[in-house]
Amino acid sequence: MNIILLGPPGAGKGTQAGRLVEKRDMIQLSTGDMLRAAKTSGTEMGKKVAEVMDRGELVTDEIVIGLIREQLEGDKKGGFIFDGFPRTLAQADALADLLAECGETLDAVIEMQVDDEVLVHRIVNRAKEAVANGGAARADDNAESLKVRLMAYYKQTAPLIGYYHAKGNLTSIDGLASMDEVEASVADVLG
Ligand code: AMP
Repeated sequence: MNIILLGPPGAGKGTQAGRLVEKRDMIQLSTGDMLRAAKTSGTEMGKKVAEVMDRGELVTDEIVIGLIREQLEGDKKGGFIFDGFPRTLAQADALADLLAECGETLDAVIEMQVDDEVLVHRIVNRAKEAVANGGAARADDNAESLKVRLMAYYKQTAPLIGYYHAKGNLTSIDGLASMDEVEASVADVLG
């Protein structure tokens, strides 16, 4: 089973993906994590995307599609969870082609709905917690980048809601509920 978790930054996609990895042996494909890893290890690609990511803008479709393509070639285990990908219509089309090429299907798209105010709150807390735990906050977890990230979501990613609705893949769930309740809603969708 291959699924997409769709929602704005701070909606809880990563948390739910982590639970699906544990419970269903699925593989989490987070383009954000892959890009951050490239940034940290200082690869050419990492250097290229660093500033764009820190500002909160989207990196090019070509780069993220390339990252996903590499991952689809490996072991598929219980299926893929696309977390933070696709984020544009071009990426969604590319994903459909890549899945078709490897004989896979897209089984569900789960939209996690949350209010902007809650998002801002969650992200500010995420940054504080990271620092309190002795780590560093994400470079893009600040008020200015968050504004840009939300704008990118509404302009470039939210059109995917209509796209997947038209394809008959979309289920929207309440992302404001507790993590356990959201997990139960996800489980209902996946059956
Ligand atoms: P995330 O961890 O999903 O919030 O992603 C962090 C940042 O990585 C985003 O703000 C973008 O700069 C970049 N990024 C992650 N996934 C994508 C994607 N699918 N398309 C374009 N940029 C992405």
